[in-house]
Amino acid sequence: MAKDANYIKLINTQRWRKLRLMKLQAQPLCECEECKEHGRIISATEVHHIVPVESVTTIEQMEALMFDWNNLMSVSNECHARIHAEMFSHTKENVQKANAKRTQRFIDKFL
Ligand SMILES: [Zn+2]
Ligand SMILES: [Zn+2]
Repeated sequence: MAKDANYIKLINTQRWRKLRLMKLQAQPLCECEECKEHGRIISATEVHHIVPVESVTTIEQMEALMFDWNNLMSVSNECHARIHAEMFSHTKENVQKANAKRTQRFIDKFL
């Protein structure tokens, strides 16, 4: 994922480092869907943003998502990688679906 300059700026702030640490202390176990579903107990080492910080455009909006306690999720390194891979494949799937729909609309209209 290409990292936005504002994103990099925010992720390197003292404020984020502190918040991240607080989150991991408050929730030291991975709280991803898969671990919850399988009752798996593994320690979290990273903090994931549930609503991606890069899904918004202005720095004010990014800041709001970045530092929103309720938008944070403690995850293990492995689960974090999986979550992002899934997010990416979902986006790709949605794009393909949207394209298929558009093609269908074209067919309905012109053929
Ligand atoms: Zn997990
Ligand atoms: Zn993440």
